[in-house]
Amino acid sequence: MYLDDFMVLGHAVPQEHRDLRKSICMMGYSPTQGLIRLYPIPIRVRPKKWALLKMPIEKSTSDKRSESWKIKGEKKDFDQLYKKINHFDIVKLKNRKNIQRHIISKYEVDCIESLNDKKESLGIIKPKNMKPFFDKRKDYEPKIQSTLDSDTLYKASSNFEFQPRIKYTCSNCKAKNGDNQQLLERGAYEWMRKEPSKLDQLWKNYKINDIDYEHYFIVGNQARYLNSFMIIGILWFKK
Ligand SMILES: [Zn+2]
Repeated sequence: MYLDDFMVLGHAVPQEHRDLRKSICMMGYSPTQGLIRLYPIPIRVRPKKWALLKMPIEKSTSDKRSESWKIKGEKKDFDQLYKKINHFDIVKLKNRKNIQRHIISKYEVDCIESLNDKKESLGIIKPKNMKPFFDKRKDYEPKIQSTLDSDTLYKASSNFEFQPRIKYTCSNCKAKNGDNQQLLERGAYEWMRKEPSKLDQLWKNYKINDIDYEHYFIVGNQARYLNSFMIIGILWFKK
Protein backbone atom coordinates (compact mmCIF):
# COMPACT_ATOMS: atom_id res chain seq x y z
CA MET A 1 0.00 0.00 0.00
CA TYR A 2 1.18 3.52 -0.66
CA LEU A 3 0.48 5.72 2.35
CA ASP A 4 0.32 9.34 1.21
CA ASP A 5 -1.29 11.17 4.11
CA PHE A 6 0.70 10.27 7.22
CA MET A 7 0.94 12.98 9.88
CA VAL A 8 3.64 12.47 12.52
CA LEU A 9 2.31 12.76 16.06
CA GLY A 10 5.23 11.27 17.92
CA HIS A 11 8.20 8.98 17.77
CA ALA A 12 9.96 7.01 20.42
CA VAL A 13 13.47 6.86 21.84
CA PRO A 14 15.74 4.58 19.75
CA GLN A 15 15.70 0.88 20.52
CA GLU A 16 18.51 -1.55 19.91
CA HIS A 17 18.00 -4.68 17.84
CA ARG A 18 19.98 -7.84 18.50
CA ASP A 19 21.75 -7.51 15.15
CA LEU A 20 23.37 -4.12 15.91
CA ARG A 21 20.69 -2.11 14.21
CA LYS A 22 18.95 0.68 16.04
CA SER A 23 15.58 1.97 15.04
CA ILE A 24 12.69 4.09 16.17
CA CYS A 25 8.95 3.58 16.26
CA MET A 26 6.94 6.37 14.68
CA MET A 27 3.29 7.02 15.45
CA GLY A 28 0.84 9.18 13.64
CA TYR A 29 -2.51 9.74 12.05
CA SER A 30 -3.69 9.18 8.52
CA PRO A 31 -7.15 10.49 7.55
CA THR A 32 -7.63 7.34 5.44
CA GLN A 33 -6.06 4.70 7.74
CA GLY A 34 -6.53 6.14 11.23
CA LEU A 35 -3.91 5.87 13.96
CA ILE A 36 -0.83 4.05 12.68
CA ARG A 37 2.42 2.75 14.13
CA LEU A 38 5.41 2.42 11.78
CA TYR A 39 8.29 0.24 12.90
CA PRO A 40 11.21 -0.18 12.47
CA ILE A 41 12.23 3.23 11.11
CA PRO A 42 15.98 3.82 10.55
CA ILE A 43 17.47 5.90 13.30
CA ARG A 44 18.76 8.60 10.99
CA VAL A 45 15.15 9.57 10.18
CA ARG A 46 14.25 12.35 12.56
CA PRO A 47 10.60 13.04 11.85
CA LYS A 48 9.27 16.31 13.17
CA LYS A 49 5.92 16.32 14.90
CA TRP A 50 3.32 17.53 12.35
CA ALA A 51 5.43 16.56 9.36
CA LEU A 52 3.39 15.07 6.51
CA LEU A 53 5.02 12.01 5.02
CA LYS A 54 4.35 9.55 2.24
CA MET A 55 5.90 6.14 1.77
CA PRO A 56 5.21 2.58 0.63
CA ILE A 57 4.16 0.40 3.56
CA GLU A 58 3.23 -3.22 4.19
CA LYS A 59 1.92 -5.28 7.09
CA SER A 60 4.48 -6.71 9.42
CA THR A 61 4.44 -10.51 9.61
CA SER A 62 5.85 -10.61 13.14
CA ASP A 63 3.64 -7.88 14.60
CA LYS A 64 -0.04 -8.81 14.51
CA ARG A 65 -1.41 -5.56 15.91
CA SER A 66 -3.77 -4.08 13.34
CA GLU A 67 -2.30 -0.56 13.66
CA SER A 68 1.26 -1.77 13.00
CA TRP A 69 2.93 -1.34 9.61
CA LYS A 70 6.46 -1.22 8.30
CA ILE A 71 8.12 0.44 5.35
CA LYS A 72 7.99 -1.81 2.32
CA GLY A 73 11.23 -3.72 1.76
CA GLU A 74 12.39 -3.29 5.35
CA LYS A 75 14.08 -6.68 5.56
CA LYS A 76 16.35 -6.47 2.55
CA ASP A 77 17.42 -2.84 2.34
CA PHE A 78 17.29 -1.31 5.78
CA ASP A 79 20.26 0.95 4.93
CA GLN A 80 18.33 2.56 2.09
CA LEU A 81 14.95 2.64 3.75
CA TYR A 82 15.14 6.30 4.72
CA LYS A 83 15.09 7.22 1.03
CA LYS A 84 11.57 5.85 0.71
CA ILE A 85 10.18 8.31 3.24
CA ASN A 86 9.09 11.43 1.44
CA HIS A 87 8.54 14.51 3.58
CA PHE A 88 6.13 16.56 1.48
CA ASP A 89 4.64 19.14 3.83
CA ILE A 90 4.02 20.15 7.43
CA VAL A 91 0.70 20.91 9.15
CA LYS A 92 0.29 24.67 9.51
CA LEU A 93 0.49 26.05 13.03
CA LYS A 94 -3.00 27.52 12.88
CA ASN A 95 -4.56 24.16 11.99
CA ARG A 96 -2.90 22.05 14.66
CA LYS A 97 -5.33 22.61 17.51
CA ASN A 98 -8.35 21.67 15.38
CA ILE A 99 -6.64 18.57 14.05
CA GLN A 100 -5.75 17.50 17.58
CA ARG A 101 -9.36 18.01 18.67
CA HIS A 102 -10.53 15.91 15.75
CA ILE A 103 -8.11 13.06 16.51
CA ILE A 104 -9.00 13.18 20.21
CA SER A 105 -12.73 13.03 19.43
CA LYS A 106 -12.15 9.90 17.34
CA TYR A 107 -9.73 7.98 19.53
CA GLU A 108 -10.14 9.08 23.14
CA VAL A 109 -10.93 6.23 25.56
CA ASP A 110 -11.78 6.53 29.25
CA CYS A 111 -9.17 4.06 30.50
CA ILE A 112 -6.31 1.85 29.30
CA GLU A 113 -8.54 -1.10 30.22
CA SER A 114 -10.94 -0.09 27.45
CA LEU A 115 -8.15 -0.44 24.88
CA ASN A 116 -7.35 -3.90 26.24
CA ASP A 117 -11.04 -4.85 26.02
CA LYS A 118 -11.27 -3.66 22.41
CA LYS A 119 -7.89 -5.28 21.54
CA GLU A 120 -6.62 -1.93 20.30
CA SER A 121 -2.94 -1.15 20.52
CA LEU A 122 -3.08 2.65 20.19
CA GLY A 123 -5.39 5.18 21.78
CA ILE A 124 -5.74 8.54 23.45
CA ILE A 125 -6.24 9.15 27.16
CA LYS A 126 -7.03 12.34 29.04
CA PRO A 127 -4.85 12.18 32.15
CA LYS A 128 -5.82 13.58 35.53
CA ASN A 129 -3.58 14.17 38.56
CA MET A 130 -0.35 13.94 36.61
CA LYS A 131 2.71 13.24 38.76
CA PRO A 132 5.80 13.16 36.56
CA PHE A 133 9.07 11.75 37.88
CA PHE A 134 12.38 10.19 36.85
CA ASP A 135 13.10 6.59 37.73
CA LYS A 136 16.62 5.24 37.91
CA ARG A 137 17.01 2.53 35.26
CA LYS A 138 17.92 -0.94 36.38
CA ASP A 139 19.26 -1.84 32.93
CA TYR A 140 21.39 1.32 32.60
CA GLU A 141 24.24 0.73 30.15
CA PRO A 142 26.69 3.67 29.87
CA LYS A 143 28.52 2.25 26.87
CA ILE A 144 26.85 3.24 23.60
CA GLN A 145 26.85 0.52 20.92
CA SER A 146 27.68 1.53 17.38
CA THR A 147 25.29 0.59 14.61
CA LEU A 148 25.93 -0.96 11.22
CA ASP A 149 24.06 1.67 9.25
CA SER A 150 25.40 4.87 10.80
CA ASP A 151 28.65 6.39 12.12
CA THR A 152 26.82 8.41 14.74
CA LEU A 153 26.72 6.92 18.23
CA TYR A 154 23.02 7.20 18.96
CA LYS A 155 21.92 6.63 22.52
CA ALA A 156 19.28 3.95 22.97
CA SER A 157 16.90 4.04 25.95
CA SER A 158 19.18 1.83 28.06
CA ASN A 159 22.05 4.32 27.63
CA PHE A 160 20.17 6.77 29.81
CA GLU A 161 20.52 6.62 33.56
CA PHE A 162 16.96 7.75 34.11
CA GLN A 163 13.59 6.94 32.65
CA PRO A 164 10.90 9.64 32.51
CA ARG A 165 7.58 8.38 33.86
CA ILE A 166 4.18 9.85 34.68
CA LYS A 167 1.71 8.64 37.28
CA TYR A 168 -1.85 9.63 36.46
CA THR A 169 -5.45 8.54 36.47
CA CYS A 170 -7.52 8.16 33.31
CA SER A 171 -10.81 10.04 33.05
CA ASN A 172 -12.70 6.92 34.20
CA CYS A 173 -9.89 4.79 35.54
CA LYS A 174 -10.58 1.14 36.29
CA ALA A 175 -7.10 0.48 37.70
CA LYS A 176 -7.06 0.49 41.50
CA ASN A 177 -3.97 2.65 41.84
CA GLY A 178 -4.23 4.61 38.60
CA ASP A 179 -1.60 4.34 35.90
CA ASN A 180 2.17 4.70 36.01
CA GLN A 181 3.76 4.66 32.56
CA GLN A 182 7.02 5.50 30.96
CA LEU A 183 7.19 8.40 28.54
CA LEU A 184 8.92 7.12 25.41
CA GLU A 185 8.85 10.24 23.25
CA ARG A 186 12.23 10.82 21.67
CA GLY A 187 12.01 14.56 22.32
CA ALA A 188 11.95 13.89 26.06
CA TYR A 189 15.11 11.80 25.74
CA GLU A 190 16.72 14.43 23.56
CA TRP A 191 16.18 16.93 26.37
CA MET A 192 17.75 14.51 28.86
CA ARG A 193 20.72 14.00 26.56
CA LYS A 194 21.32 17.70 25.97
CA GLU A 195 20.44 19.04 29.42
CA PRO A 196 21.30 16.30 31.93
CA SER A 197 21.59 18.83 34.76
CA LYS A 198 18.10 20.24 34.13
CA LEU A 199 15.98 17.10 34.03
CA ASP A 200 12.99 18.56 35.86
CA GLN A 201 12.68 21.34 33.31
CA LEU A 202 11.37 18.64 30.94
CA TRP A 203 7.95 18.73 32.59
CA LYS A 204 7.79 22.50 32.26
CA ASN A 205 8.59 22.15 28.56
CA TYR A 206 5.47 20.04 28.20
CA LYS A 207 3.50 22.49 30.39
CA ILE A 208 2.50 19.59 32.63
CA ASN A 209 0.23 20.84 35.43
CA ASP A 210 0.02 24.30 33.86
CA ILE A 211 -3.66 25.16 34.20
CA ASP A 212 -3.70 27.09 30.93
CA TYR A 213 -2.93 23.95 28.93
CA GLU A 214 -4.80 20.79 28.08
CA HIS A 215 -2.97 17.46 27.79
CA TYR A 216 -3.76 14.13 26.17
CA PHE A 217 -1.53 11.09 26.04
CA ILE A 218 -1.11 8.94 22.97
CA VAL A 219 -0.64 5.52 24.50
CA GLY A 220 0.46 2.31 22.86
CA ASN A 221 1.23 -1.23 23.96
CA GLN A 222 4.19 -3.49 23.25
CA ALA A 223 4.03 -6.22 20.62
CA ARG A 224 5.25 -8.78 23.13
CA TYR A 225 3.33 -7.55 26.14
CA LEU A 226 -0.05 -6.50 24.85
CA ASN A 227 -1.30 -5.46 28.28
CA SER A 228 1.62 -3.15 28.93
CA PHE A 229 0.99 0.41 27.72
CA MET A 230 3.39 3.34 27.45
CA ILE A 231 3.04 7.02 26.62
CA ILE A 232 4.39 7.40 23.09
CA GLY A 233 3.48 11.03 22.62
CA ILE A 234 1.81 13.95 24.33
CA LEU A 235 -0.74 16.19 22.65
CA TRP A 236 -0.91 19.52 24.42
CA PHE A 237 -2.27 22.92 23.55
CA LYS A 238 -3.51 26.12 25.14
CA LYS A 239 -7.11 25.92 26.39
ZN1 LIG B 1 -6.98 3.85 33.80
